[in-house]
Amino acid sequence: DTERLRKPDWIRVKAPVSKGFKDTSKIIKDNNLVTVCQEAGCPNVGECWSQGHATMMIMGEICTRGCTFCNVATGKPDTLDAFEPGRVAHAVEKLGLNHVVITSVDRDDLKDGGAEHIAQTIRAIRHRIPTTTIEVLTPDFLKCGPEALETVVAARPDVFNHNLETVPGLYPEVRPGARYFHSLRILQRVKELDPMTFTKSGIMVGLGEDKQSVQQVMDDMRAADVDFLTIGQYLQPTPKHHRVDRYVTPEEFAAYERAAWGKGFLMVSSTPLTRSSYHAGDDFAELRAN
Ligand code: SF4
Ligand code: SF4
Repeated sequence: DTERLRKPDWIRVKAPVSKGFKDTSKIIKDNNLVTVCQEAGCPNVGECWSQGHATMMIMGEICTRGCTFCNVATGKPDTLDAFEPGRVAHAVEKLGLNHVVITSVDRDDLKDGGAEHIAQTIRAIRHRIPTTTIEVLTPDFLKCGPEALETVVAARPDVFNHNLETVPGLYPEVRPGARYFHSLRILQRVKELDPMTFTKSGIMVGLGEDKQSVQQVMDDMRAADVDFLTIGQYLQPTPKHHRVDRYVTPEEFAAYERAAWGKGFLMVSSTPLTRSSYHAGDDFAELRAN
């Protein structure tokens, strides 16, 4: 069935027209940076960028994986740009961010999966703006030794985020090349290495999962000591990508949210437009204030 479902009203978002949006675009462009906001065609870009909240995507625009929900190109990536960490730090300062989310493509072509580059980016931001809290959204380092993850954790991000993306039963069709229990183990290992680092993960719904499996994923995350959870509606970036199985209703999202609080997550966002980096800074600031 290739027919595309009509988007429900709760998915529609405002067009990006504000001055803040233009300022953010300029800072991103001037520093020659890539954002996941643009690459993923995120529906929140108007809202986030009007407040300067852009999520940088480092290590290039070409990924070595080909997840079927993702709009990033698959292929042989370019060599790493040694000046990128500095440019990211500069942009974070210009944007005036209290909290920054840094994500990346997957670099199975590099021996350390890009761990050192991620660590350098964390250090560059910390050096330039020590008060900004840093969240990294990392690859799974599936083909690397344990030292890759250790390198990232040693750079002490405030939040270590690695998305499980979907329920285990859908991995072969949604995240080929990734392993559910490996990703879960990454999250658990971060807590073992540094219990002070908050861990975060998320899934998309509407890919064909059943509710029971979503509950199971939440339990698995808590068993791996994951602190923060995000659940959002999957949107199909182009007709070539995994189809939307259904639009999960706001009431169902609210029910997932209630279940998640009950399971002991410290922070939960579960709405149709929730993305891994959506309101990440506000939520984190609120948590630290309490
Ligand atoms: Fe960018 Fe995240 Fe906001 Fe989407 S939710 S626009 S990816 S910061
Ligand atoms: Fe997209 Fe990340 Fe999958 Fe690469 S690893 S295809 S960037 S979701």
